Amino acid sequence: MRRICPSEEILSEYISGVLAEEDRTEVEKHLAGCAACRELLVETHDIISRPDIHEIKNRISRWIRKNQWLIGAAAAFTLSFVFSEHFLQFLTACIIMGAKWAVDAKTAKILIMIYEAWKCGDRDKADKILSRIDGTEH
Ligand SMILES: [Zn+2]
Repeated sequence: MRRICPSEEILSEYISGVLAEEDRTEVEKHLAGCAACRELLVETHDIISRPDIHEIKNRISRWIRKNQWLIGAAAAFTLSFVFSEHFLQFLTACIIMGAKWAVDAKTAKILIMIYEAWKCGDRDKADKILSRIDGTEH
């Protein structure tokens, strides 16, 4: 059994999984017989994982929730080039989702209604919806 305790640096490397295989085995052998190092390992693990990974994960999921339409718009934009035969459809979807991202949910719903009306060729209906927005959004 290894008598000398591994340094915190080695322990953090062990947690990060960047330690070489033989060193990993050494550390594990030592940890099996050293309670102090096991405690240190837990502490180091907390320090390494808590602020970084959790904060980043939270930040990413918050950002995705906030910008889901932007992500959708970017995806549609990319797909419009991949499937060039559906270029216009994807581009339209991109514009719609971009608009959704730019405005609040209520206005986005109206935009979908306008888009649906336009898609069906019902320009009167679209104009009616538009004039209703003009009437209420002052
Ligand atoms: Zn130790």
